[in-house]
Amino acid sequence: MNILIMGAAGSGKGTMAQKIVESFNVPHISTGNMFREAMQAGTELGRLAQHYINHGMLVPDQVTIDMIRERLLRDDCKKGYLLDGFPRTLAQALALEEIVINIDKPIQIVLNLSVEIDVLSARVTGRRVCESCKTIYHIKFQPPKVEGVCDLCGGRLQHRSDDTLEQLTVRLREHVLLTKPVLDHYAAEGLVQYIDATQEIDEVWQDIKKALENVR
Ligand code: AMP
Repeated sequence: MNILIMGAAGSGKGTMAQKIVESFNVPHISTGNMFREAMQAGTELGRLAQHYINHGMLVPDQVTIDMIRERLLRDDCKKGYLLDGFPRTLAQALALEEIVINIDKPIQIVLNLSVEIDVLSARVTGRRVCESCKTIYHIKFQPPKVEGVCDLCGGRLQHRSDDTLEQLTVRLREHVLLTKPVLDHYAAEGLVQYIDATQEIDEVWQDIKKALENVR
Protein backbone atom coordinates (compact mmCIF):
# COMPACT_ATOMS: atom_id res chain seq x y z
CA MET A 1 0.00 0.00 0.00
CA ASN A 2 1.20 3.52 -0.79
CA ILE A 3 0.48 5.72 2.20
CA LEU A 4 1.19 9.29 3.21
CA ILE A 5 0.85 10.45 6.80
CA MET A 6 0.53 14.14 7.63
CA GLY A 7 0.22 16.13 10.84
CA ALA A 8 2.00 18.89 12.76
CA ALA A 9 4.95 18.25 15.09
CA GLY A 10 3.57 16.39 18.10
CA SER A 11 0.48 15.04 16.33
CA GLY A 12 1.69 11.48 16.92
CA LYS A 13 2.79 10.86 13.35
CA GLY A 14 5.95 9.02 14.35
CA THR A 15 4.17 6.75 16.84
CA MET A 16 1.45 5.86 14.34
CA ALA A 17 4.02 5.38 11.58
CA GLN A 18 5.76 2.70 13.66
CA LYS A 19 2.46 0.85 14.06
CA ILE A 20 1.58 1.12 10.36
CA VAL A 21 4.99 -0.25 9.36
CA GLU A 22 4.55 -3.27 11.65
CA SER A 23 0.98 -4.07 10.59
CA PHE A 24 1.06 -3.24 6.89
CA ASN A 25 4.63 -4.28 6.04
CA VAL A 26 5.76 -1.14 4.25
CA PRO A 27 9.06 0.74 4.64
CA HIS A 28 8.89 3.89 6.77
CA ILE A 29 10.29 6.82 4.82
CA SER A 30 10.65 9.75 7.16
CA THR A 31 12.53 12.75 5.79
CA GLY A 32 13.06 14.02 9.36
CA ASN A 33 14.73 10.70 10.34
CA MET A 34 16.78 10.67 7.15
CA PHE A 35 18.08 14.16 7.85
CA ARG A 36 18.84 13.33 11.49
CA GLU A 37 20.73 10.20 10.44
CA ALA A 38 22.74 12.24 7.95
CA MET A 39 23.48 14.77 10.72
CA GLN A 40 24.68 12.02 13.06
CA ALA A 41 26.83 10.53 10.32
CA GLY A 42 28.29 13.99 9.64
CA THR A 43 27.71 13.81 5.87
CA GLU A 44 27.52 16.85 3.62
CA LEU A 45 23.72 16.48 3.51
CA GLY A 46 23.67 16.32 7.31
CA ARG A 47 25.71 19.51 7.70
CA LEU A 48 23.41 21.33 5.30
CA ALA A 49 20.22 20.04 6.97
CA GLN A 50 21.48 20.87 10.48
CA HIS A 51 21.40 24.59 9.86
CA TYR A 52 17.72 24.53 8.85
CA ILE A 53 16.55 21.93 11.39
CA ASN A 54 18.12 23.74 14.33
CA HIS A 55 16.23 26.88 13.35
CA GLY A 56 12.95 24.97 12.90
CA MET A 57 13.04 25.76 9.18
CA LEU A 58 12.41 23.51 6.22
CA VAL A 59 15.38 22.12 4.31
CA PRO A 60 15.29 23.46 0.72
CA ASP A 61 12.88 21.65 -1.61
CA GLN A 62 15.41 20.47 -4.18
CA VAL A 63 17.66 18.82 -1.57
CA THR A 64 14.68 17.05 -0.02
CA ILE A 65 13.15 15.99 -3.33
CA ASP A 66 16.45 14.48 -4.57
CA MET A 67 16.83 12.54 -1.32
CA ILE A 68 13.28 11.15 -1.58
CA ARG A 69 13.59 10.26 -5.27
CA GLU A 70 16.68 8.17 -4.53
CA ARG A 71 14.91 6.49 -1.58
CA LEU A 72 11.71 5.63 -3.47
CA LEU A 73 13.69 4.01 -6.26
CA ARG A 74 15.07 1.38 -3.87
CA ASP A 75 13.78 -2.18 -4.10
CA ASP A 76 11.95 -2.25 -0.76
CA CYS A 77 9.45 0.33 -2.07
CA LYS A 78 8.15 -2.18 -4.64
CA LYS A 79 5.76 -3.39 -1.93
CA GLY A 80 4.60 0.17 -1.21
CA TYR A 81 5.72 2.82 1.27
CA LEU A 82 4.75 5.01 4.16
CA LEU A 83 5.83 8.59 3.58
CA ASP A 84 6.13 10.63 6.77
CA GLY A 85 7.07 14.31 6.76
CA PHE A 86 7.14 14.54 2.97
CA PRO A 87 5.75 16.34 1.01
CA ARG A 88 5.66 19.47 3.15
CA THR A 89 5.33 22.03 0.35
CA LEU A 90 3.28 22.14 -2.82
CA ALA A 91 6.50 22.02 -4.91
CA GLN A 92 7.44 18.79 -3.11
CA ALA A 93 3.94 17.37 -3.71
CA LEU A 94 4.15 18.08 -7.44
CA ALA A 95 7.63 16.56 -7.68
CA LEU A 96 6.42 13.51 -5.76
CA GLU A 97 3.54 13.05 -8.18
CA GLU A 98 6.03 12.66 -11.02
CA ILE A 99 8.26 10.26 -9.07
CA VAL A 100 5.41 7.94 -8.02
CA ILE A 101 3.99 7.87 -11.55
CA ASN A 102 7.41 6.81 -12.85
CA ILE A 103 7.64 3.93 -10.38
CA ASP A 104 3.93 3.11 -10.81
CA LYS A 105 3.19 3.54 -7.12
CA PRO A 106 0.62 6.35 -6.81
CA ILE A 107 -0.46 7.51 -3.36
CA GLN A 108 -3.60 5.64 -2.31
CA ILE A 109 -4.42 7.34 0.98
CA VAL A 110 -3.40 10.44 2.93
CA LEU A 111 -3.88 10.25 6.69
CA ASN A 112 -4.17 13.67 8.29
CA LEU A 113 -3.66 13.70 12.06
CA SER A 114 -5.22 16.78 13.64
CA VAL A 115 -4.54 17.98 17.19
CA GLU A 116 -5.19 21.19 19.16
CA ILE A 117 -2.15 23.45 19.64
CA ASP A 118 -1.95 23.25 23.47
CA VAL A 119 -1.94 19.45 23.28
CA LEU A 120 0.89 19.66 20.74
CA SER A 121 3.14 21.74 23.03
CA ALA A 122 2.78 19.26 25.90
CA ARG A 123 3.53 16.35 23.60
CA VAL A 124 6.51 17.90 21.89
CA THR A 125 8.35 19.19 24.95
CA GLY A 126 8.04 15.83 26.75
CA ARG A 127 8.98 13.71 23.75
CA ARG A 128 12.08 11.50 23.88
CA VAL A 129 13.40 9.35 21.05
CA CYS A 130 15.71 6.32 21.22
CA GLU A 131 18.93 7.28 19.47
CA SER A 132 19.42 3.80 18.10
CA CYS A 133 16.01 2.22 17.24
CA LYS A 134 14.05 5.51 17.05
CA THR A 135 11.21 4.32 19.31
CA ILE A 136 9.29 7.33 20.63
CA TYR A 137 8.50 7.94 24.32
CA HIS A 138 6.96 10.73 26.37
CA ILE A 139 8.19 11.50 29.89
CA LYS A 140 4.58 11.70 31.14
CA PHE A 141 2.25 9.97 28.68
CA GLN A 142 4.48 7.10 27.53
CA PRO A 143 7.46 6.84 29.89
CA PRO A 144 10.15 4.15 29.50
CA LYS A 145 10.54 1.63 32.36
CA VAL A 146 13.94 3.09 33.23
CA GLU A 147 14.41 6.84 32.82
CA GLY A 148 16.45 7.72 29.76
CA VAL A 149 16.73 4.12 28.50
CA CYS A 150 14.83 2.49 25.62
CA ASP A 151 12.62 -0.46 26.74
CA LEU A 152 13.16 -2.26 23.45
CA CYS A 153 16.88 -2.03 22.74
CA GLY A 154 18.48 -0.38 25.79
CA GLY A 155 19.53 2.62 23.68
CA ARG A 156 19.86 6.12 25.09
CA LEU A 157 16.79 8.36 24.90
CA GLN A 158 17.37 11.76 23.40
CA HIS A 159 15.50 15.03 23.52
CA ARG A 160 15.45 16.36 19.96
CA SER A 161 17.12 19.75 19.67
CA ASP A 162 14.06 21.17 17.85
CA ASP A 163 11.53 19.83 20.40
CA THR A 164 11.23 23.11 22.30
CA LEU A 165 8.30 25.50 22.62
CA GLU A 166 10.22 28.11 20.66
CA GLN A 167 10.93 25.81 17.72
CA LEU A 168 7.41 24.40 17.87
CA THR A 169 6.01 27.88 17.22
CA VAL A 170 8.21 28.29 14.15
CA ARG A 171 7.43 24.77 12.93
CA LEU A 172 3.68 25.27 13.38
CA ARG A 173 3.75 28.57 11.54
CA GLU A 174 5.57 26.89 8.65
CA HIS A 175 3.24 23.94 8.84
CA VAL A 176 0.15 26.10 8.38
CA LEU A 177 1.73 28.29 5.72
CA LEU A 178 3.34 25.64 3.56
CA THR A 179 1.74 22.31 4.37
CA LYS A 180 -1.91 23.35 4.34
CA PRO A 181 -1.82 23.79 0.52
CA VAL A 182 -0.43 20.25 0.28
CA LEU A 183 -3.34 18.91 2.29
CA ASP A 184 -5.81 20.90 0.18
CA HIS A 185 -4.19 19.46 -2.95
CA TYR A 186 -4.77 15.88 -1.78
CA ALA A 187 -8.22 16.72 -0.43
CA ALA A 188 -9.21 17.89 -3.91
CA GLU A 189 -8.21 14.43 -5.17
CA GLY A 190 -10.39 12.81 -2.51
CA LEU A 191 -7.44 11.00 -0.91
CA VAL A 192 -7.52 12.48 2.61
CA GLN A 193 -8.80 10.68 5.69
CA TYR A 194 -9.08 13.03 8.69
CA ILE A 195 -8.04 11.43 11.98
CA ASP A 196 -8.74 12.97 15.41
CA ALA A 197 -5.29 12.58 16.95
CA THR A 198 -6.24 14.21 20.27
CA GLN A 199 -7.62 10.81 21.31
CA GLU A 200 -5.66 8.16 23.25
CA ILE A 201 -2.95 6.38 21.24
CA ASP A 202 -4.97 3.19 20.86
CA GLU A 203 -8.10 5.00 19.69
CA VAL A 204 -6.11 6.91 17.08
CA TRP A 205 -4.57 3.63 15.95
CA GLN A 206 -7.97 1.92 15.60
CA ASP A 207 -9.21 4.78 13.40
CA ILE A 208 -6.09 4.59 11.23
CA LYS A 209 -6.29 0.81 10.91
CA LYS A 210 -9.91 1.05 9.80
CA ALA A 211 -9.06 3.72 7.20
CA LEU A 212 -6.19 1.62 5.82
CA GLU A 213 -8.20 -1.58 5.75
CA ASN A 214 -10.79 0.18 3.61
CA VAL A 215 -8.11 0.85 1.00
CA ARG A 216 -7.11 -2.82 0.61
P1 AMP B 1 10.26 15.96 11.40
O1 AMP B 1 11.00 14.90 12.12
O2 AMP B 1 9.41 15.42 10.27
O3 AMP B 1 9.50 16.87 12.32
O4 AMP B 1 11.37 16.87 10.68
C1 AMP B 1 12.33 17.58 11.40
C2 AMP B 1 12.91 18.68 10.56
O5 AMP B 1 13.52 18.13 9.37
C3 AMP B 1 11.90 19.69 10.04
O6 AMP B 1 11.58 20.70 10.99
C4 AMP B 1 12.65 20.25 8.82
O7 AMP B 1 13.65 21.14 9.21
C5 AMP B 1 13.31 19.00 8.26
N1 AMP B 1 12.43 18.32 7.29
C6 AMP B 1 11.79 17.11 7.44
N2 AMP B 1 11.04 16.82 6.38
C7 AMP B 1 11.18 17.85 5.50
C8 AMP B 1 10.63 18.16 4.22
N3 AMP B 1 9.78 17.34 3.61
N4 AMP B 1 11.01 19.31 3.63
C9 AMP B 1 11.87 20.15 4.22
N5 AMP B 1 12.41 19.94 5.44
C10 AMP B 1 12.07 18.81 6.09
